[in-house]
Amino acid sequence: MKTIKILLYYPANEIAKPITYHLIKDYDLEVNILHADISLNKVGKLILDIRGEDDKLEEALNYIESEGVQYKLFNRTIIWQEDNCVHCGACTAVCPSGALEMNREDWSLTFDKEKCLVCELCVKACPLNVMNVSV
Ligand code: SF4
Ligand code: SF4
Repeated sequence: MKTIKILLYYPANEIAKPITYHLIKDYDLEVNILHADISLNKVGKLILDIRGEDDKLEEALNYIESEGVQYKLFNRTIIWQEDNCVHCGACTAVCPSGALEMNREDWSLTFDKEKCLVCELCVKACPLNVMNVSV
């Protein structure tokens, strides 16, 4: 079993295709929607964590392509150098997914990697270069 993070690009004319339904039903995958920007008659984007057996994941990627939906796998991850962080909170203001939040009890930064979209906005926002991208 492994988990992949993937960005799906839906052309406007394919927006109504029930891709996630088929990933779950036909390929026995666990699908977690991290971010969705989908509107009728517009190009759509969906970011997913998908977990399953290697062969099923490969078949599922072929299925996605065969439906006319393009995808990009996220190979990069965000590294938080916690020891150098001053918990100023600047990065939480730009994080679109809620992966970066301030703990309301002690006002320290928390980073939930599972929610991270690897958009890299926090990398640019951090004044101390504490957030980095790794491949
Ligand atoms: S912007 Fe940088 S220093 Fe400030 S809380 Fe975020 S990671 Fe820490
Ligand atoms: S890359 Fe940074 S800003 Fe983007 S989702 Fe991940 S933690 Fe949030």
